[in-house]
Amino acid sequence: MSRYRLFPVPAQEAVLRDHCAHARYVWNLAVEQHSHWRPGREGAPGYLEQCRQLTQARAKHPWLAAGSQTVQQQALRDFAWAMAAYLDRGNPVRRPSWRKAGRNEGFRIVGRRRQWDVRRLSRRTGAVWIPKAGWVRFRWSRLVPVGAKSYRVTMDRAGRWHVAFTAIPEPIRAPDNGEVVGIDRGVAVSAALSDGELLTVPGLTGRERTKLRRLERKLARAKRGSNRRAQARLAIARLRARETDRRKDWAEKASTDIARRFDMIRVEDLQVRKMTRSAKGTAVSPGRNVRAKAGLNRGILRSGWGLMVRRLEDKAPGRVEKVNPAFTSQRCSACGHVDANSRESQARFACTACGFACHADVNAARNIAAGHAVTARGGDGIARPVNREPHLLASLVGRE
Ligand SMILES: [Zn+2]
Repeated sequence: MSRYRLFPVPAQEAVLRDHCAHARYVWNLAVEQHSHWRPGREGAPGYLEQCRQLTQARAKHPWLAAGSQTVQQQALRDFAWAMAAYLDRGNPVRRPSWRKAGRNEGFRIVGRRRQWDVRRLSRRTGAVWIPKAGWVRFRWSRLVPVGAKSYRVTMDRAGRWHVAFTAIPEPIRAPDNGEVVGIDRGVAVSAALSDGELLTVPGLTGRERTKLRRLERKLARAKRGSNRRAQARLAIARLRARETDRRKDWAEKASTDIARRFDMIRVEDLQVRKMTRSAKGTAVSPGRNVRAKAGLNRGILRSGWGLMVRRLEDKAPGRVEKVNPAFTSQRCSACGHVDANSRESQARFACTACGFACHADVNAARNIAAGHAVTARGGDGIARPVNREPHLLASLVGRE
């Protein structure tokens, strides 16, 4: 997805803010309707039923009726899509949740029929058509993807507007070299490739992190509602937005590169969502190691792993395989010996049987590349899911 800075004039900005408020209202209504619903149960209203309810709501609330029906209906369609993605067992994402004012502001426009609602005004300027606002200028900072069917307009916490064109990336042709790569996701290293390459998501630089800590202290000291507080919040939001941009950029570039270089791409069948959830535990049995796990989960999400896998599947359709991750961190990729003691530390693997040693994440990536259904030593042939986390936990506990 490519984002461009959007520059609405003040009158347009007022319209965009209304669109955001309406989309958020409609979305939250849908969230509320689905909040008591669990998979397998019937009863939550579907998209068509919700559209009917939207018509009723518009009849009741003039402020909603004054807004764009296109924007409001699209919010419902987005919600239906998010729900379907949440229920997709193969590649689940987080359950759609409440949108907060000032935090998750945005709405989607679907291009009218075949008409492409983007114009180029000059070398550096384009304009995109938005209902009730008309043509809004944006910075033509890079190529606008051909074949984009919709665009999403967002306002970040720093008050900046963006437009992102959604186009399913063109499949990248396989290099036809017969090469298979395994990718292991990590925390210290964002991803390890079976050919030994280590990829790291660029986060904030040391200076930026120092600045962020200073700002957070400033925010904590500032009085509620004060100018100083608002300034600190804005600066923090800018830094966080920069971090997100870098992570997204990384996922795009890394996935393109991998899709170009390898015929077959194997990744762990890792349900990030499951792991993210397990940390909270339940009221009856609170999750163990909640603090440490929360740290790990932040790491996973921050690493942009989920985004990268989705992009790989877009760019290399039919060439991505998900492999059972059981024992990939304990199995020697050279001789096949499985032993937890071989994992010397988070970074180091040294086989207790044959002495083969390499970077632990690379060793795991090599197992993933081989696509082994690994079984425990002397085991019964059933690959039990093994908790891959302890070695990561140890390092995280030390870091937090
Ligand atoms: Zn070995």
